[in-house]
Amino acid sequence: MKLSCRASSIKPSATLAITAKAKKLKAEGKNIIGFGAGEPDFDTPGYIKNAVKDALDKGYTKYTPVSGIEELKSAIADKFLSDYNVGYEQSEIIVSCGGKHSLYNLFSALLNEGDEIIIPSPYWVSYTEIIKLSGGVPVIVDTSRNGFKFNLRMLESNLTKKTRGLIINSPSNPTGVLMDEKDITQIADFVKKKGLYIITDDIYEKIIFDDKKFFNALMVGKEVKENTVAVNAVSKTYSMTGFRIGYTAGPKDLISAMNNIQSQSTSNPTTFAQYGALAALKGGYDFTVMMRNEFQKRRDYMLDFFDKNIKSVIPVKPDGAFYIFADISKVFDESGNKINSSTEFCDYLLDKYLVAAVPGIEFGNDNFIRLSFAASLDVIKEGLNRIKEAVSF
Ligand code: PMP
Ligand code: GLU
Repeated sequence: MKLSCRASSIKPSATLAITAKAKKLKAEGKNIIGFGAGEPDFDTPGYIKNAVKDALDKGYTKYTPVSGIEELKSAIADKFLSDYNVGYEQSEIIVSCGGKHSLYNLFSALLNEGDEIIIPSPYWVSYTEIIKLSGGVPVIVDTSRNGFKFNLRMLESNLTKKTRGLIINSPSNPTGVLMDEKDITQIADFVKKKGLYIITDDIYEKIIFDDKKFFNALMVGKEVKENTVAVNAVSKTYSMTGFRIGYTAGPKDLISAMNNIQSQSTSNPTTFAQYGALAALKGGYDFTVMMRNEFQKRRDYMLDFFDKNIKSVIPVKPDGAFYIFADISKVFDESGNKINSSTEFCDYLLDKYLVAAVPGIEFGNDNFIRLSFAASLDVIKEGLNRIKEAVSF
């Protein structure tokens, strides 16, 4: 069938595909260890579920304003004020159907054919494809030689007349690495001077380890507000991935254009899910802190296990999120040329050892794999023992 060039130019989300495949094999009775999942393994807190039940009982089952209910946008504005000391009007905020949808609307509103967005690599799988869907051009900039940290020099050397902005995702999916405050500040100043945009994807902002601090462009100061677009979601912070609620705060004209696009595509995000998100944003961070502490224990266990037991797989130490991005290039050598790519390695792990992981190539680096630690410690232990066996050639 003849499909549109845009549809033909993009690939499906590998993270979602691998998670779905692992779930299916598990349902068929296979003893799968899932290191693929890009979602917290904790149940959504009861008070959030109750808020949705209440909303349904109260009959909140009809359309809302396209950009979301006022109470939710107010709660989002309160969050921006208390977390980053930046005030937003209702007209500068839009709620969409998950962070992914926020990004989709954002790039649709921002990009003309051929406009470029700079993406530090390794990057989350969907950035490139969403930008391409909007007619834009993803410009990939490798950060692996700089400890996976993007900086001003990398931005300057990739700038063209077509550059509209860059994405910052700190802590990052897939590496978990936090960018330095100094680099974000220098980039924000430069972006302002050049009239570009920083798209700050803060979805993992509350999952940070070792008492390290989150920092984003909005925290540089009010002067960069007009050049910053902040994308966030309740998905990871409150373990609400299935609710599909994300939000964007940015310049009024851009938000208004996103509103138009949303009004002609999805309309408002699901009404009762918005009430769940409202309860989440008003409910504090006790649950998130509990989850973060568990993630840190698992991260520490994994790093220690690799250090002591698997010399050929070298993890990057994540400052946040819930992924280990690990270098497998030594495995290529040790396998005697049986395994030569991250995809081959992940296929081998799944076929022979029933371990699901995501190939690094999907994030822009074929020498790595991504292991999610959104799984219980027992599952993680079993999975690591299987990987140890798998690389004992
Ligand atoms: N940004 C990053 C970096 C992510 O890892 C994800 C993962 N789902 C998203 C955005 C979008 O999240 P969601 O659409 O589930 O809210
Ligand atoms: N962001 C998560 C991941 O990287 C969830 C899946 C997706 O939306 O990509 O696995």
